[in-house]
Amino acid sequence: MSQYRLAVIGGDGIGPEVMAEALKALRAVSGPALALSWDEADAGAALWQRTGEDLPKETLALCQTADAILFGATGLPDVRYPDGTEIAPQITLRFALDLYAGVRPIRLYPGAPSPLAIPAGRRIDYVIFRENTEGLFASRGGGATVGDTAAVDSLVITRAGTERIARRAFEWCLRRPGAPADGVRRVTCVDKANMFRSYAFFRRVFQEVAREYPGVEAECAYVDAMSMYLTQAPWRYDVIVLENMFGDILSDLGAATVGGLGMAPSGDIGGRWALFQPSHGTAPDIAGQGIANPLAMILSAAMLLQWLGDRHADAAARVAAERIEKAVGAVLAKGHAKTRDIGGTATTREVGDAVLGAL
Ligand code: ATP
Repeated sequence: MSQYRLAVIGGDGIGPEVMAEALKALRAVSGPALALSWDEADAGAALWQRTGEDLPKETLALCQTADAILFGATGLPDVRYPDGTEIAPQITLRFALDLYAGVRPIRLYPGAPSPLAIPAGRRIDYVIFRENTEGLFASRGGGATVGDTAAVDSLVITRAGTERIARRAFEWCLRRPGAPADGVRRVTCVDKANMFRSYAFFRRVFQEVAREYPGVEAECAYVDAMSMYLTQAPWRYDVIVLENMFGDILSDLGAATVGGLGMAPSGDIGGRWALFQPSHGTAPDIAGQGIANPLAMILSAAMLLQWLGDRHADAAARVAAERIEKAVGAVLAKGHAKTRDIGGTATTREVGDAVLGAL
């Protein structure tokens, strides 16, 4: 029997609402072969307002000692640090735990709406590998301002940081059946190498790593063109690797093509620790109304189990991950429990209960 203890952080806004539904799914797959337990901890903007801390020592310690971290969402639009930036403990955790790979599967489930006109037989199913710890975000909290006249942030690309995210992307690609359009295993490096030395360096290191994987097609695209390709022919893509800021932006674009942020799970994965959270934020405009889509959060819990399964060569965790993913697929295919963002009228709880029923 395998046993895992999770750190669970609901956070702000809709974070705790969607987390409640993910925990229901985790309870349902927990059993004699897979004993899951968790400790809940606080973090976020509301906590910062109350206590002056957004990521208390105890929360960080819990994350460091748990087998994996499940995270809802944090940050509130009106609550800001004195320099005007958002309270974002999830970003602090990325750096503190060196969660360098932002893994964002973009998959259109049958029954989920896409704003794209998708030709018959085409599917959207690719994975974004966003470098999580450097790029433009390396500057977070460290940019410079000159009085009231100028502000500067720097973009940092290192060889080590690029090599490890590129390798992870290629390794992941080897586990996949290839791009939906042609079955070719393909990793696409997205950059702006025609304009900036930093991105040209990112591309050069990517191409060096690509030589270690002769069975995978490696290609490069500029980010501006890529935002067009991902709306014109997303089925051509398999695995995409890119710098932090570009990853931030294209992840939302990708999510929009598969039903929106409520459908997009993610994992922030490092060498030792991993944190799983929906790609969406705290959605203050719908918080407290019980109408948030919990599927991104539930799918993030499935990713967590998949990661535990891989890390510990644990078939029970892998099976549990697959069960949750299939249950989500079944609920969407049936179409009886959908929240407003994907064209239904169901509440957060009703969708969570439907997934539970399918499990
Ligand atoms: P962040 O900067 O933290 O990513 P944000 O303000 O850019 O946050 P979100 O909080 O993710 O973005 O919200 C963007 C939009 O998507 C909002 O209109 C919100 O209501 C909607 N949205 C986000 N998540 C969900 C969800 N789970 N269910 C339904 N709608 C959602």
